[in-house]
Amino acid sequence: MNIGAHVRGGGNLVGSLRAGEEIGVTSIQVFVQSPRAWKPTQYAPEVTAAFREAQREHPSITHTFVHATYLINLATGDPELYAKSVAALTHNLAVGRAMGASGVVLHLGSHRGAGFDEVVEPVAAALRRALDEAGDAPLGVSCPILIENAAGAGGTVGRSLEEIERVIDAAGAPEGLGVCLDTQHLWASGVDYATPDGAEAVVEEVARRVGAARLACLHLNDSKVELGANRDRHANLGEGTIGAALESLVGHPAIRDLPLLLEVPGAGGGPRASDVAAARELVERGIARYDQPHTTRRGATATKKRATKEAP
Ligand SMILES: [Zn+2]
Ligand SMILES: [Zn+2]
Repeated sequence: MNIGAHVRGGGNLVGSLRAGEEIGVTSIQVFVQSPRAWKPTQYAPEVTAAFREAQREHPSITHTFVHATYLINLATGDPELYAKSVAALTHNLAVGRAMGASGVVLHLGSHRGAGFDEVVEPVAAALRRALDEAGDAPLGVSCPILIENAAGAGGTVGRSLEEIERVIDAAGAPEGLGVCLDTQHLWASGVDYATPDGAEAVVEEVARRVGAARLACLHLNDSKVELGANRDRHANLGEGTIGAALESLVGHPAIRDLPLLLEVPGAGGGPRASDVAAARELVERGIARYDQPHTTRRGATATKKRATKEAP
């Protein structure tokens, strides 16, 4: 089990490790610039090197993820916004690589009615450019762009694993592209994983469409909106419409050991120690659904053969 959370570092990168330790997580997610502004924060090489050193000295935090700026829209038809988006993604990825991060989580953006088919190629081209131009990661570090599934509002791109598969394939399926699944967005886009069979279907679809190895982490959130409501509204664990239905997904053998990153509101200031504790209990209950010998679970879905794309 690896429970993580989005944390704020209070102005410097190293502070985010301490913020994570304070609430008891083993992975963190951070912004490396203001999430709602274009202005990039420049980090001197000493600052990112100090972060890598600090991460080594905080072995309880195993993974750091960067969440890219929200303003990025790789699916826009506006050439100026597209160029700014590619530049911002490249910058976020360069910082993530320099920090030795485990990935940069990205919302692909919205085509605003133009249609998914129209934007697949430009989105893929933008991803390729950022991967090419972000500069090298330190030796031994792989910092992919992690495409996050969308809740499905408006013209958001990446609302299904099928759309994510098509984007990755259009980009040439490079090693530098991975996936981050948000449990709230999945639920809001109509994916019901309340039973072990439902969770198995999600895991099977990930393996078949993008390859299991591309799934690097999950965002672990409950939902303020109903299944299929297509809106991005996170709730604290146990306080939303998903509730115990999350257990089957997070307890699944293919999911339970991935970094599960909380992006819950807490009391308004983001994930608290109590939210982290609730996440641990949720995953424990989920694991029990699979591993207790006397569950009422039907069949032997765990041993069913999965069609698997070649690992990246
Ligand atoms: Zn998320
Ligand atoms: Zn969200």
